Amino acid sequence: MTVQQEVPAAGAGEALEVWIDQDLCTGDGICAQYAPEVFELDIDGLAYVKSADDELLQEPGATTPVPLPLLRDVVDSAKECPGDCIHVRRVGDGVEVYGPDAE
Ligand code: SF4
Repeated sequence: MTVQQEVPAAGAGEALEVWIDQDLCTGDGICAQYAPEVFELDIDGLAYVKSADDELLQEPGATTPVPLPLLRDVVDSAKECPGDCIHVRRVGDGVEVYGPDAE
């Protein structure tokens, strides 16, 4: 019997995207260690998501797709994030599946 939901609870075929609330970011860099392909610290000391072509996305609330092979790293980042500010949501309906606002 499975009592604990593990990754990927959202369903393997479901497209997910991630964004960071920089207002709460502590700048510790945990996310960039877990998933450097997705997260990066800027010179302002805060973490941002990156586009698929490695560009830092600095608009507030900017999202980037979560590559399936990196899902676990991104989810672990959200779980470990001291600022509780990494949000992973379904592209289809915008529902947060990992992060502080997940059900
Ligand atoms: S883990 Fe969270 S608090 Fe730490 S740098 Fe990344 S987004 Fe900011």
